[in-house]
This record gives sequence, C-alpha cells and structure tokens, in this order.
Amino acid sequence: MSVLSSVIDNQRMQNIRNEFGRLGDKCYLENAGSALYPEALLTKVNDDLLRNVYLNPHSDKYTKDCIEQIRCTVLNYFNTDQSSYSLIFTSGTTQSLKLIVESFQFHSDDDENGSFIYLRDNHTSVIGLRELAEAKNADIIHISHDNFLNTLKTYKKIEYSEKITNKSNTLLAYPAQSNFNGYKYPIDCVQKLKDGCLNSYLKKQLCGVNCNWYILLDAATFVATSKLDLSSSQPDFVCLSFYKVFGFPSGLGALLVKNTSANVLKQKKYFGGGTVDIVLSSEDFHIKRHTLHERFEDGTLPFLSIIALKHCLSVMSCLIPKVINNDIMDTISHHTYYLAKDLYLQLSELVHSNGTKAVVLYMDSDFTDIKEQGAIVTFNLIREDGSYIGYAEFQHMADLFNISLRTGCFCNSGSCQRHLNVTNKEMKNMHKAGHKCGDEIDIVNGRPTGAVRVSFGFHNTFNDVDKLVSMIIRCFVRQQYLKPNRNLVNYNNNNIEIPKTNTITFKEEILSVLNEKNFKNHIPEILNTGSKATLSEIAIFPIKSCGAFKIKSGWKIGAKGFEYDREWMIIKENGVCLTQKQNTLMCMISPVVDFTNRCLTLNFKGSVFSIPLDISHDDKERSTAPFCQSKVCMDVVKGYDCGDTVADWISNCLGISYLRLIRQASDDNRIQKKNNSGEHNMLSLSNQAQYLLINKATVQWLKNKIRDLTFTDDLDSLTDRFRGNLVIDTAHELIEREWQTVTIGKHQFKVEGPCSRCQMVCIDQKTGEKTVEPLRTISAEFGGKMRFGIYLSYLGPVNGCKDLVLNTNSQVTPYLSDDNISR
Ligand SMILES: *Cc1c(COP(=O)(O)O)cnc(C)c1O
Repeated sequence: MSVLSSVIDNQRMQNIRNEFGRLGDKCYLENAGSALYPEALLTKVNDDLLRNVYLNPHSDKYTKDCIEQIRCTVLNYFNTDQSSYSLIFTSGTTQSLKLIVESFQFHSDDDENGSFIYLRDNHTSVIGLRELAEAKNADIIHISHDNFLNTLKTYKKIEYSEKITNKSNTLLAYPAQSNFNGYKYPIDCVQKLKDGCLNSYLKKQLCGVNCNWYILLDAATFVATSKLDLSSSQPDFVCLSFYKVFGFPSGLGALLVKNTSANVLKQKKYFGGGTVDIVLSSEDFHIKRHTLHERFEDGTLPFLSIIALKHCLSVMSCLIPKVINNDIMDTISHHTYYLAKDLYLQLSELVHSNGTKAVVLYMDSDFTDIKEQGAIVTFNLIREDGSYIGYAEFQHMADLFNISLRTGCFCNSGSCQRHLNVTNKEMKNMHKAGHKCGDEIDIVNGRPTGAVRVSFGFHNTFNDVDKLVSMIIRCFVRQQYLKPNRNLVNYNNNNIEIPKTNTITFKEEILSVLNEKNFKNHIPEILNTGSKATLSEIAIFPIKSCGAFKIKSGWKIGAKGFEYDREWMIIKENGVCLTQKQNTLMCMISPVVDFTNRCLTLNFKGSVFSIPLDISHDDKERSTAPFCQSKVCMDVVKGYDCGDTVADWISNCLGISYLRLIRQASDDNRIQKKNNSGEHNMLSLSNQAQYLLINKATVQWLKNKIRDLTFTDDLDSLTDRFRGNLVIDTAHELIEREWQTVTIGKHQFKVEGPCSRCQMVCIDQKTGEKTVEPLRTISAEFGGKMRFGIYLSYLGPVNGCKDLVLNTNSQVTPYLSDDNISR
C-alpha cells in the first residue's frame, strides 16, 4: 500500500483529500502562489453569513466586536497577543509593506538621513519599497544573500566602544522564506540584527551606520506552510497575505507591528473613514486615532472576509491532525517538507542514459534541516546534450498532464539572477531584445531566463510527487519510472482505498532510448523557390476550438480571414471563452456551412442542430455587452448571443451547464496585435492571425521523427491536429519557415511569423483523446521552440484579379527572406 504522507496517516490524509474533490485529476503544485481552500471552509462561511446579520463595523457594534475577537485569535495563532503586537488588517502583503515605508520615519530629529536596507533576494514587492524610501531621502542599500548570511554567521556580540552618533533609523527588509526556492532565512537572529550585527558590513560599504535598527520581515511565503512564533522571535514588522495560508479569502492580509516599535511609524500621512479622532474640513487640522490599528485601517474593513478568517482557523484545526509538536502548522510544515525533500532527492538522481544529469536544481539548502528549507523545489531540466529545456516548454507539458506549477522568475529577480548567473547587463540586454517578465522567451543564447517552481501545500501527497516525476521522466528523460518504495510509517488501518484520480488516459508508449538528430543541425538541403507547391486543402473553423469544415473547391477571403472562419465561439457561464484545452470534446462538434439552406449545421456524435448563417434583426436584439474573448489576448469582443436552443444543445453535447454560443458582431473590428510593419489587420475570433498555413511535407517529416510506437496517427490525422486553414504540399519539409511572402493562386499573403503551438496539438481531433505526441517530438526537434506552421495575413489579389475566392490546387509561390529568419 502506498504511503501518502510521512507525517499524516493515510486515513486522515484521505479526509483532507476529500476536501478538494474539485481538483479532479489536477495536480496542484503551486501552493506558494495560493493555498487551496477546503470545501468545509466555504460551507462554514456560508452558514455563518446566512445566519447572522453583519453590518459595517463603523455602525454596528456586534460586527466590530466579532472583528476584535478575530484580531485576538489571529495574534494567538502567531503565539503572541495584544500586549506585544498590534494587528493591522490590510489588503495583503504588498499593502502592508507599503504602509510601513510610507509611515516609517527614517531621518533623525536633527535631520540625519536614515537607511533602507534590503536583501537582494526579496520579492519584487519589497524591492519596490526603495522608491518610497528614496522619496523620503533614505539611503538605499542592498545586501547579497551570501553577505547577509555570512555576516550573521560570523557576528560576535561586541561591546560598543564607539559612540552612536547617528540617531536616524534603519529599516532592514528580508523574507522569512524565499518565494524563489523555499530557503528559510534565519528569523531567530532578530535581536542580533537589532544589536547592529550588519554594522560592520555596512561600514565596508561606507554608508551611514547607526544602531536604530528595525526589522521588517516579509513572511508571505513562510507562513503558508510554517509556524511563525512571535513569542520566540520578535521582528518589528511582519507582513503577510491570508490567501497564501488558507486559500481564502483573497484580498486580506495583515501587518503585525511590535508595540514597542510602533512609534517609528509616525509619518502616516493619509487619514480616512475611521482613522481620526477629530478632523476639521475647513481647516488643516486633524488628530489620528490613538490605537495603532484604528489609525492605520483607513476606510471600511473587509469585514466579511475577516469573519471568514475565523473559520479558516477553525476548519484547519479540525482537518489537520496535531502530529508534530501538538501543532497544526508544525504538522503541515513537516508534511510538506518531506514531500519537497522526496522530490528534491528524486530530481537530483535523475540522469539521462548517457549518464549526464537531467536536472539543475536552484536551491540554497540540501534538505538536511527543516529550519533552513520550506516546501519548494526550483529547477530546470537539461537534455542529454547539455542544452536547457526552457520553462515555457516545460509549462506546456505540465499543462498537458494537468499539473499546475509556476515557471519564470516568480517575482524574485534577485534570486533568479543569482541562481541563473545572469548579470545586470545581461538582464538589460535581454529586455532590449524583447524579453519581459512572464513571457515565453525562456532561453536566450542557450541560457535559461527563468526556472520551474514546485511548491507543496497540506493537500498534496506523495502521489503528486510521483505524478510530476513520472511526467518529467516520460517526456524529457525517456526512461521507465519506478515508483520509489516508501515504507515510512506503519498504520493500523490497512484497508484504505487510495483513489484513482487519473481520468485522462495517455496512450502508453514503448519506451526506448533513442539517439536523435536535433533539428538545430538540420538544414533543408534545397531552398527551392520554384517548387511545385500546391494548396491541397482549405479548412475553416466556424466555431472557435470546434471541428473543421473542409472545403473541396474554393472559399471566399473575407476582411478578417476566410469567410465564416471563427465567427462563433462558446462561452461559459462566467463569460470566459471555452477552448479544447478545457474540454477536448469540442473538436467533435463538426460544422457544415450550408449555403443552400443558409445555415450552419452542427454535428455531434449523430445529433444535428442548425443555426442561421445570416445575422437577423433578432440576433441584433440579443447583442451582448462587450466581453473579454480570452484571458491570454485580453481582447474585448462584441457579439450576438445565438439564443437558448443552440446553447442547450451545446451544453448537452459537452456536458457543461449554461454554455452560450456567441457570434462575433460584424462591426467588431478586432485588430491583429503584433505586426512587424505596423499595419493593422482585422481579426475574427482566432487568436493570433488571419490564416495558419501548414506544410504537409513538414508534417510527414515530423511523423517520421515520432518514435512512440503507440502513436498511430496517419498523415491526415496528424495534419488535422495543427488546425491549419491552408494546407500545402511541397517537395521539401520545413522550407515554409524561410518565407516572407507567399502567393497562392491569385492572392498574396504576408508571413507574420511562426506559430508557437500549445498543447492543443496533443488532442486527437477525431476522438478528443489526449496524447503526449506530437508535442514531445516537436519540442525535442526544434530545440525547445515549439514552432510549427506559419501565420499569414492577406495582402491582396495579384494581377488585377477581382475575385476574392481562393481555390484548392492553386499554385503556391513563396518569396524568401534575404536574411535567415531566426528559428
Ligand atoms: C506573495 C508574496 C508577496 C506579495 O504578496 P501579495 O499577496 O501579492 O501582496 C511578497 N513577498 C513574498 C515573499 C511573497 O511570497
């Protein structure tokens, strides 16, 4: 029987898992981004809000008392009380951080500047504080990870012989735990730091030195899975967000202020509802409230969220057994630590068949001490030949396997630079070359620009670790995955059923280790312009993400692409567009454009439904408010709702309630975003460009490269996965990547660039089944750049042709670029 946790017994763990039925087969490894709320929490909050009348705490004493009660409970949760710390409710860590620096008095009474000192490995939200501190004339000093730790380690308390001449204040900000890799910075050293332990280091930096040290602890990542005990270590200020601990409510955080340090926060400027004792509206006179939290909580508190917070604490104590130190957070911290350690050890041992390491880990501890390491593992993968697998590529595979994790730099560029060895100059150059935080440019000059972060929460089990590792091995290491034997605990109850959550079936493959030629070395022998390329197929996709309508002869070129191509889309109850990524059955809704009856006929497993092809007066009556088409494109689209009956039919087919079919309004002129020459092309509901061209010879080449013997697609089915509008046949593969413009029949198109395929290509367009191929082979062959097919936009007819119809079997004549476009 497999063990789920090395701390929590299987029965209890099973109870915990039952709270997260909504995950289905999703493997959630992004706990550092947000924790997951258990179902019981929502029930409790719901019941409470339904039973009680909560009002604005400014007017309602009962609500106010409830909040004060919760304030005490939260302070107790951090092992302190109102006599030592004040709790200020904020909207989250970031607001807490800003409040401190806005209110902090850096300079002394005789106007000597103070300092703001930050560890470089802080979250961006802390780094940004320097702008506020600078505006207050504080000296800005940063300290590296190594210098910070070494200074702390080597510090011996000395009696001060020097007189303290400087009465200004120093604010030091560092994280209790790195959000980059889970390293836990020492927090038992607060007294040392306040004693001036960094003075010697700062002297070397020739900055002002003084002894009025204030410690700002960013505990946002730390408190998610660890116990913060404010009775043993007492930073002056602590910032945190509650969704990172409990998953709910979002938009609520705390600033904890040590009462004896509250005086230094005297520069708070703003006052608002509830924060003043007296204010004169016609004279510059006001007096802020005395109690710290009353002075700092401007406006109306998010009182319902605070009510929810009470239940967060109680539900957690019901759900989590107190196995370690008789404490739930200590139990969670051990449970998640051992999961992360298990992953860390498995990844460190992963090697390719030629013996080279498959994983580079970006850690600052080796998981030997839970005091130094939290439940996060950060890494990149490398191929057999030593080249990196970019994080974006990894992300696509993880998406395919329904594994949630974080890729990129996780808002911590300091740690990212340190671990990836990127200098400031290189960072700036990458930015100049177009790389931005959070984009898909994962490799520049062969070096990674970010990494993969896996973080665990109390809902995770060893099964999640295994799911991730087996995905990595299957897609990137190509060996047999042997589940580690974990006999950590003996349980009394041996009859616990471990649920099989895996509902998506991947075709099992025969694993063999193969030596493949990399695409990087593959140069097409002939770049033949006078080729005998022809347009073999035209396809349109009337409903975005649904099946293709293949055209036998010719089709009209419209202002936004082919006529009726992606004119319709299916949206969910929440107004967000549904795609095959979320529901693979969509590809089985196959549409037929029927000009005789002027309708669009939809087929789904034998069931048929028709909607009119022409927009009627009635449709216009049902025009929707402008809505967002997709969260990626951030486009706002205008459309018409196609009515209840088709909506019901589609909801039935796909098994999702409350779907709607929307048609793009003809006067909605979406404009193509990026266009090299600054031209604007109008778009239908397609994501990127008007047309996607696929070369069948390239598909054939890819097919030959796929070594997975269980992948049985024929050439046509494989071609269909790429969902091209234009399928051409050429004598040579890959040549389309060199084209700049192309004439097809009597029409000229401009090449907008390569199409970066997402995991949609892993959906069999006939059955909706998910497979690992061809994505795996594409990414292996193209050196991590998942590019297949090219985007086109329409330039116009050639030779005075007036007819806007493109015919199949037309000749395709490309024009090459002068310089080789980078692959
Ligand atoms: C998440 C996080 C923040 C920012 O928190 P918000 O909730 O986005 O304000 C700051 N620091 C660390 C270490 C974090 O993990």
